[in-house]
Amino acid sequence: MADPTTHPDDPRVMVHEGVATRVLIGSGALRRVPDELARVGAERVILVATRSASAPAADLSAALGSRLAARFDEAQVHTPVEVTDRALAVVTAHHADAVVALGGGSAVGLAKALTARTGIPQVAVPTTYAGSEVTPVLGETRGGVKTTRRDPALAPRTVVYDPTLTLSMPRGLTLTSGLNALAHAVEALWAPDRTPVSDALATESAKAIVEALPQVLSDLRDLTARARVQAGAWLAGMCLAQTRMGLHHQLAHTLGGSFDLPHAELHAMLLPHVMDFDLPAAPDAERRLERALGTDPVRVVRGLAAGHEGARRLRDLGVPRDALAGVAARVVDAPYPNPRPLDVESVTALLERAW
Ligand code: NAD
Repeated sequence: MADPTTHPDDPRVMVHEGVATRVLIGSGALRRVPDELARVGAERVILVATRSASAPAADLSAALGSRLAARFDEAQVHTPVEVTDRALAVVTAHHADAVVALGGGSAVGLAKALTARTGIPQVAVPTTYAGSEVTPVLGETRGGVKTTRRDPALAPRTVVYDPTLTLSMPRGLTLTSGLNALAHAVEALWAPDRTPVSDALATESAKAIVEALPQVLSDLRDLTARARVQAGAWLAGMCLAQTRMGLHHQLAHTLGGSFDLPHAELHAMLLPHVMDFDLPAAPDAERRLERALGTDPVRVVRGLAAGHEGARRLRDLGVPRDALAGVAARVVDAPYPNPRPLDVESVTALLERAW
């Protein structure tokens, strides 16, 4: 496949394409959501929220008043099509003309799936650091098989980041979701289609996350530090939207899909191992990270991941050791672009270390 950032008629010419999303960011931004929905022409809104967001969902429902046509609170990780079918029935029954997602990547994924089926616009209000809200990508699961599509029409029209909505994240999710975001930035730095724009986004993102995450972990109520991690996660989501991800995301997709593993926790435990594996083959990414972080990037990320009080190894998530070589073989069979060439032996050895 041709490198998507080079012009099809002249490989010397680089093409940069951004996603046209309007972004509001700051404490109290949740209160701006009704106006933002009016801006996209919404008169009958469906609110898709996860149960964890029930308090802000109640505030938003009250603020929307008669413009709230329906609510749907059953979003699930990896966007199963059966759940989307149930939500779609609600959209149809209530003649909804816009969707607002309030929650983590699961709520955002469901809103994208509704846009894909109806064309109604979305406003996304993320409560984790997953980054899906600024990408034109939708992953859906049918019968346990996850497929992904990319289309600019799938991206939310507006994203509203309110750091106060991240205060409710417990310590474990805060850490793992922050490392999930960091993984988007790290892989953007060694992507084959990186541009000066993605490099700038990725280094600023990594710096914000690595500096502010320890502050958040030492005081989960530190709103200034929370806001900084959230801003870093926004940039990380833009990296995900603009570049092709490599071995780290491929391992997370393959393992997550095969064994139904928790998304953020899996990313967090893989990241230091993949950085250790890939950075020697990506000297420019390594230099940029060292400069941005002021220290050895692998050591600092390993230290952050080691601070997780939940599952830290693949074995803690119930992944059987004898499945690792098979996972490695599938990855090597159809590799995502990666700085270090892959073979079954070295990928199995990486997975063994993470296990
Ligand atoms: P999630 O949305 O499933 O949330 C994880 C858990 O945390 C859930 O139980 C949720 O209810 C809870 N939660 C969310 N916000 C909270 C808060 N502020 N306080 C307390 N609890 C909270 O997980 P996620 O990691 O945000 O997103 C993962 C999903 O997003 C996966 O399906 C992944 O594939 C998808 N994703 C898609 C893209 C894309 O570009 N398409 C990018 C990143 C992630």
